Amino acid sequence: MKSAKRLRHWRRAGRNPSLALKLLNYLCPLLAAKIPFGRLNPDVPQKELYLLQLVSRCLARPGKGPTQVVRRQLGHTILLADSFTMCQTAFTKTLAQIASDPRVTVRRAGPPDPAGRCVVYWMQRAQRVLDNSALDTAVRVANFLQQPVVIFFAPVPFYPHANLRHFVFLAEGIPQTAAGARARGIGYVLRRYPEHSLLKFCEEVKASLVVGDENPMREPKCWRELAARKLTVPLWTVDADVIVPSKLLAKEQYAARVIRPRLQARLQEFLIPHPNPKARVEWEKPRRLSVLPDDGSADITEGWKELDRSVQPVTSFHGGTDRALTLLREFVTGKLAHYPERHGKPELDGTSRLSPYLHFGHIGPQTVSLAVEQAKVPRQVKDDFLDQLITWRELSINFVHFNPLYDSIESAPDWAHRTLAAHAGDPRPRSYSRQQLERAETYDDLWNAAQRQMLHAGWMHNYMRMYWAKKILEWSPSPAVAYQTAVYLNDKYFLDGRDPNGYAGIAWSIAGKFDRPWFDRPIFGTVRYMSGNAARKKFDAERYIEQMAKLA
Ligand SMILES: Cc1cc2nc3c(=O)[nH]c(=O)nc-3n(C[C@H](O)[C@H](O)[C@H](O)COP(=O)(O)OP(=O)(O)OC[C@H]3O[C@@H](n4cnc5c(N)ncnc54)[C@H](O)[C@@H]3O)c2cc1C
Repeated sequence: MKSAKRLRHWRRAGRNPSLALKLLNYLCPLLAAKIPFGRLNPDVPQKELYLLQLVSRCLARPGKGPTQVVRRQLGHTILLADSFTMCQTAFTKTLAQIASDPRVTVRRAGPPDPAGRCVVYWMQRAQRVLDNSALDTAVRVANFLQQPVVIFFAPVPFYPHANLRHFVFLAEGIPQTAAGARARGIGYVLRRYPEHSLLKFCEEVKASLVVGDENPMREPKCWRELAARKLTVPLWTVDADVIVPSKLLAKEQYAARVIRPRLQARLQEFLIPHPNPKARVEWEKPRRLSVLPDDGSADITEGWKELDRSVQPVTSFHGGTDRALTLLREFVTGKLAHYPERHGKPELDGTSRLSPYLHFGHIGPQTVSLAVEQAKVPRQVKDDFLDQLITWRELSINFVHFNPLYDSIESAPDWAHRTLAAHAGDPRPRSYSRQQLERAETYDDLWNAAQRQMLHAGWMHNYMRMYWAKKILEWSPSPAVAYQTAVYLNDKYFLDGRDPNGYAGIAWSIAGKFDRPWFDRPIFGTVRYMSGNAARKKFDAERYIEQMAKLA
């Protein structure tokens, strides 16, 4: 049958043959050469297999399988028809296999857009190319489709509590990430608000599929849902910043002792080195695509009138994967061996200080855990550290993932609600306003020192964070106000603030979360109390106070 006649015939039959014909004309010679009769040739390029799938959709009609239709109407493609089902199965199977990884959540299902030209990785939380399973997933899909992969990174000023301090740290990570991407043949497109639209970018580059990363916090959750609704191509997200994918825990875990064995049971499966694959098809930037320079020369906050610039950047931490890896090396080769006896002493620099890097995703928990696993230190030492990094960190992520009230006193367990309510009317011998606390103007030198560390270093030692939050409860008119004040200060000044660890730490300190009832006392009820005297017996508080005085 001549083409024109065939077209008329198909139109009468109510099918849209034009695309199918176009594809078949292109595919037949190709496939005749490549698909031996009755058997799927593994060398058939994936793109052709994908186009075949499309042909099937164009030709299919109720009661008639595509194979029959192709056989009857295009005699010379018998070869193609016999291999068709197998090709289609292979295509769907491979993509389904990638999507079946427990880290992956398919948020918008469907086949990749056949007109698509690349796979987009919408980078948000995992701001790195090293050991990033979201990026690795995007590369795997792109390699399968024989397409390039491009990272889209577009910071916005309206993330709650984000200020200049946070954005400077974030921006310091960009040049290394961009260079690392290029070394793997991956594109990196930096944009900033108001040019931050993922949808627009996907249209410009003709995305066939979008891969994002996971963040349990409220706002990114909303963005993901919105993107899934508005995108016209599939959206997958990958839980790249945990060892054990959050969704596998299924519900809120109420204590470290409960989550610990569950995480331990899955470490063998998930604490494994990353492949960090290269992109097979290198990304070439379309000539007209607008991008910001990613070498550090662009001010990503330019023009952001609404950004809080009152919180200045710190000199104590600089962002980026390289800096994180240096800190990790120093920690593993030096501090780790003494971690058990030193990590509770704020005047000693005995911890990794990696929390800002983990928060911004400049380093992943896998990289840190595997480096610690390989260290030449006793098992007990490794376990002490990994318990913080894996058990407590992933307990915090689980809390924020499953408890929508994570940033309010309402997240407290029932026993803590009852005891705090019973003591709500207790007199507060001392009370301070939020501003007095913010300016470190209390009678307590040790607390003021901790607050100074927060203000000037953008970080605080774990022991002091507990003490700091518990004193806010003691000095506030109510537990609810204390919680809000702690969240406000924590998120405003800490580089690692606005993180599940922060909400879990505040919930532990003020709302008894993950803890048990202790002795009853004023204001706290049975929520655990911490005193300045006890702290002074535990470590050299005077030395810590002196160190922090120098920061101001
Ligand atoms: C009131 C309060 C507020 C906190 N706010 C934050 C915050 O905003 N951001 C933040 O990342 N952490 C927060 N923490 C948890 C903890 O204090 C910090 O993660 C830790 O001090 C960071 O220092 P490091 O990286 O040297 O820790 P290391 O001792 O070297 O531990 C390595 C990693 O393990 C994780 N980790 C360690 N301790 C804890 C913990 N108690 N809970 C959860 N994860 C932990 C962190 O990711 C940390 O980077 C808070 C704790 C409390 C009590």
